[in-house]
Amino acid sequence: MPGRVEKILLAAPGIDEDAIAAALLAAGFTVELHSAGTAVDALEAITEHDFDCAILGEDLPDDGGEALLPDLQGHGIETPVIFLFNEPVQTARAMRVMRAGASDCFAISELTPERIGRAVVMARRYHIARNKAIDAEKRLAMQTLFDPLTNLPNRGLFFDRTDRALSVSRRDGREVAILMLDLHRFRDINNVLSHKAGDQLLREVTERLREAVRTSDTLARLGADEFAVLMPTGASAAGAMGMADRLLSALMAPYTIHGQKIAVGASVGIAVSPKHGMDSSTLLRHAESACLDAKRDNSGYAIFAGDDPTESLRQLSLASDLRNAVDNNELVLFYQPKISFETGHVCGVEALTRWRHPEHGLVPPDRFIPLAEQTGVIEPLTTWLLNEALRQRSIWSGQGLNLPVSVNLSPATLQDESFPDQIAELLSRWDVPPTDLILEITESAIMSDVMRATRTVSRLNDMGVHISIDDFGTGYTSFSYIRKLAVREIKVDKSFVLNMRTVNDDAVIVRTIIEMGKSLGLNVVAEGVEDEETWNALQSLGCNSCQGYFISEPLDAQTLDLWLAESRWRTAPVGNVEQLPRGGLRSAG
Ligand code: C2E
Ligand code: CA
Ligand code: CA
Repeated sequence: MPGRVEKILLAAPGIDEDAIAAALLAAGFTVELHSAGTAVDALEAITEHDFDCAILGEDLPDDGGEALLPDLQGHGIETPVIFLFNEPVQTARAMRVMRAGASDCFAISELTPERIGRAVVMARRYHIARNKAIDAEKRLAMQTLFDPLTNLPNRGLFFDRTDRALSVSRRDGREVAILMLDLHRFRDINNVLSHKAGDQLLREVTERLREAVRTSDTLARLGADEFAVLMPTGASAAGAMGMADRLLSALMAPYTIHGQKIAVGASVGIAVSPKHGMDSSTLLRHAESACLDAKRDNSGYAIFAGDDPTESLRQLSLASDLRNAVDNNELVLFYQPKISFETGHVCGVEALTRWRHPEHGLVPPDRFIPLAEQTGVIEPLTTWLLNEALRQRSIWSGQGLNLPVSVNLSPATLQDESFPDQIAELLSRWDVPPTDLILEITESAIMSDVMRATRTVSRLNDMGVHISIDDFGTGYTSFSYIRKLAVREIKVDKSFVLNMRTVNDDAVIVRTIIEMGKSLGLNVVAEGVEDEETWNALQSLGCNSCQGYFISEPLDAQTLDLWLAESRWRTAPVGNVEQLPRGGLRSAG
């Protein structure tokens, strides 16, 4: 870039500043060099000035330059750092410095105009790529967390905030309340007056509700005419009823829409944790059921009255059956193939648990995993699942099949600090290389206790086990965590993929996630691919691999073996989906 002045911070005492300046000059740069003599000065200078890059040396007083790297990351500073060693070092040491956040490193004895020139050019590219990723992250956050019509948090963000409030409340023992508000006759207004009128009404309702809640509460739009309020701190049932009153009175006055005066009623349902549920989905379900009661009784608002006795009995008996399911060998693993876009071949499988219940038949995981989590059965279940998945993996390797296996983990598992030891034992028992095990975790699993999850994940990562973030896009992820956590893969949630052909917002979200994932060097997997059009779209967006009914449903191990023997995805070099036999792809499972 001719004429460009490179603004560089030099914090490398003991290293000849003039030699560096001369090398940069010889490499053709025009530079403005600033220097700092201590780590504290360097941190301060980097925070205040927008340097193109910083050159750090080993001998920086206080703690040495290396100790400054995690500090920079901790402060969210994205200035690229070139690290200079006093002596040539071994690869492991250099890798440690790179992993800690340096964009390049070399020994002072290697200082040539060519070497430093290359480092500065790479630093600039790194900087541009990082900024792009940050922009994309902000855009994505806006798209995936807020409702575009009202700018209110959407369902995903609401769930996330509720999860956090609940995890705080578990520690300090206070109550958390959720209120669910449903407008009456909204559909009629939409149909009779036009969608534009409906939109205007929703915006006005939003304004009124906003005035009624406190700043510490979260007001969200969950669906077309459904709103919800989270009262995160010390909200008793009485406090929630007070809030319900305020919300209803705020909506009472008529609205003027397109010159017409209309009145719109509403019902509110209340659920308070811990009494009415300990997790966000139970709480919301109970607030919804209370809202229906209020609507039916025309009472304005209602508090959740208690579970339907037959439903809770059923859950109870399922819970006691579940305890025995592991011992009685009633759990089975199904496997869903993942296809690499690059090769057109199966590149791994995801293990999904099913319960063959003696009376209820095949029970899907959504029905029993939450139950297992609530009752503590998740621990033996996870142990069984890992053992079974790795056993199957070793059977496949015996048959000459290379099928890395992905396994889903519950949030609680990550909080167990002995978990990596368990994994190490199982890997050696089945003689499976760690890189052939992928652990899928969700964003909320990390966010519920960042410190502990980070420790467990980095130990797993050091062992060589790959970590994947599941249901990506639905939670509240910060990419800075993903970077710190050394995640290898993200899975674009199927809710976006399923509708990307028809819903523009979803298409934009999928594209943004893929772009951003790739700029961070992550493997991006799309789930929920149900047709060829979606396959083609994802392929042209540069997605790495995918799974979904278009390729195959999850299958038990035996059926998968048959599928693999016959499937073109496995055997033929596929460049183009057109060449595939249509009928043979889907299996009855
Ligand atoms: P998930 O990890 O997001 O798994 C993907 C789910 O999407 C699976 O549902 C799969 O059958 C379904 N699916 C796959 N392709 C398509 C498609 O093309 N279209 C549609 N509409 N759906 C598709 P499944 O097997 O019912 O699992 C549901 C969830 O249960 C999983 O979601 C996972 O979060 C959880 N789960 C399953 N097995 C385990 C387990 O062993 N441990 C834990 N902790 N969770 C599990
Ligand atoms: Ca998964
Ligand atoms: Ca998923």
